[in-house]
Amino acid sequence: MSKVFISPGHGGSDTGAVGFLVEKDVNLKMAKACADYLSAREIDVLLSRNVDGNESLNEKISECNAFNPDVAVECHNNAGNGNGFEVYHSIVGGVGKTLAQNIEKEIINIGQNSRGVKTRVGASGTDYFAFIRQTSCPAVICEGAFVDNAEDVKMIDSDEKCKRFGEAYARGILKTLGIKDEVIKVEPQKVYLVKVTADGLNIRTGPGTNYAVVGLITDNGVYTIVEDKIISGIKWGKLKSGAGWIALNYTTKI
Ligand SMILES: [Zn+2]
Repeated sequence: MSKVFISPGHGGSDTGAVGFLVEKDVNLKMAKACADYLSAREIDVLLSRNVDGNESLNEKISECNAFNPDVAVECHNNAGNGNGFEVYHSIVGGVGKTLAQNIEKEIINIGQNSRGVKTRVGASGTDYFAFIRQTSCPAVICEGAFVDNAEDVKMIDSDEKCKRFGEAYARGILKTLGIKDEVIKVEPQKVYLVKVTADGLNIRTGPGTNYAVVGLITDNGVYTIVEDKIISGIKWGKLKSGAGWIALNYTTKI
């Protein structure tokens, strides 16, 4: 199973940029939406935190490296004379660059303009951002929109709009990992017990009165139901014994 590390930028006493919105709040909403989207698919996700709180960049990087994910994404938003989305990847390119490009495409698809896929070099000639430099997997930093630009902030000024960004990031991640954008349905555990309340209850070969009667329950006993179906407004339950189906309106769930 692929593993992805998602981190909301800033938090706690570190608010990040402050404009019409507070950056740390927007980052958290996007990161949670991204993590939720991936978790519903074939991904093992570690979200560095799902509530506001202090978390140093070093803690975050250590946590990421201990988790050893395939890719890592940090969610930020921007400020200072600009508008639009931008994404940073490592100067070494590779999967991180592909990830940045795939995320950018998804962001353009949701109607946000892009300032580009970028790298930033530090004084030592390596990546400027520690989240990109010190994580041991390909990592990108997404800057969704400018919190201090009255126009750009309209892209991110509700929970629903932040969710669209987080989900766009998630789709870019899935594409990079070669994983289908498909919700994995886990069937809920349907086994439960019922007590028969009727004095005589037919067991039929299938769910419905048009199925043949193959037995009769007369003991008001407790039975295990492994599957149920509603047919013509009546709920039918399949007996664990394999004997057949019974109408559950003559039973009570226990
Ligand atoms: Zn930031």
